[in-house]
Amino acid sequence: ERLGDLLGHWAPGRDTRPETSRRSYSANRIMAAIRNGELVNHYQPKVELATGNVIGVETLVRWRHPQDGMVYPDQFIAVAEASGVIERLTGWVLNEALAQSRRWSLAGIDLRMAVNVSMNNLASISFTDFVTEEAQCACVPPARLVLEVTESRLMRDPRAPLEILTRLRLKRFGLSIDDFGTGHSSLRQLCDIPFDELKIDKSFVHRAWEDETSRAVVAVSQGLARQLGMKVVGEGVEDREDWDFLRCAGCDHAQGYFIARPMPAEEFLAWLGEWRVRVPA
Ligand code: C2E
Ligand code: CA
Ligand code: CA
Ligand code: CA
Repeated sequence: ERLGDLLGHWAPGRDTRPETSRRSYSANRIMAAIRNGELVNHYQPKVELATGNVIGVETLVRWRHPQDGMVYPDQFIAVAEASGVIERLTGWVLNEALAQSRRWSLAGIDLRMAVNVSMNNLASISFTDFVTEEAQCACVPPARLVLEVTESRLMRDPRAPLEILTRLRLKRFGLSIDDFGTGHSSLRQLCDIPFDELKIDKSFVHRAWEDETSRAVVAVSQGLARQLGMKVVGEGVEDREDWDFLRCAGCDHAQGYFIARPMPAEEFLAWLGEWRVRVPA
């Protein structure tokens, strides 16, 4: 049922970033960070492979810790999820991302804005209304917001998320299935939830050029998404080979360090101007 399981033991887990330190933070400290304005959203472009056009950005939260420097989500999302702080955290990230989307839109830049949503956010039915109101307040049309979802293994009741996601889709919000192929995202979900975007996990994209099995996973995911009428994003595009491979495989969009690292909003316009000049053919 899970693609990762179907494909056997080698299915890799989450990609890890080289880290100098790995601290853990308490739920109270994370809560304080939200209150104190220590969080910041970075944005990473999603680009159309055929044209090089920038079609959207993904929001990735960071914590500017006063003592520890920049702290990445892998060091605090899990605690936020386990403690319930994730509700406030997602609220903050979403609110800020929508405000940014509005600012760019007023500057004539209309991009789809993707926000990562935790399965824990999909436990209460009021989440649909929350997202709808936030988008309305920011004057962002639903179709411009994309919610990226990764399945959690620890889902107590899969019916609530299913109902919430279906309601969101009916309201025309975009839904993206993240980390596809890792075993965190299942084929079952593809049948049950009306996703409109599938993101092939970066572990496959990295290896596609040299590893036949990864290549097969990309091809199968692409075909599946095509059949189901979804757009396919390859994430973790780190070099020219990855880009060329995804393009040839028929994927729609690409995201990764080859295009741009996640960056603060202030840097985005400068990047965009420069990108238009050096789009890979
Ligand atoms: P994700 O949603 O799969 O996001 C992609 C991750 O890959 C990001 O790590 C991004 O910086 C990194 N990345 C982008 N391009 C490349 C590349 O070319 N090569 C490699 N090796 N990595 C690349 P980041 O920002 O550390 O985020 C890690 C995870 O934390 C995210 O994985 C997402 O699951 C979670 N996350 C981030 N922001 C939020 C948030 O606001 N809310 C929630 N619930 N989760 C978040
Ligand atoms: Ca994501
Ligand atoms: Ca991902
Ligand atoms: Ca590679």
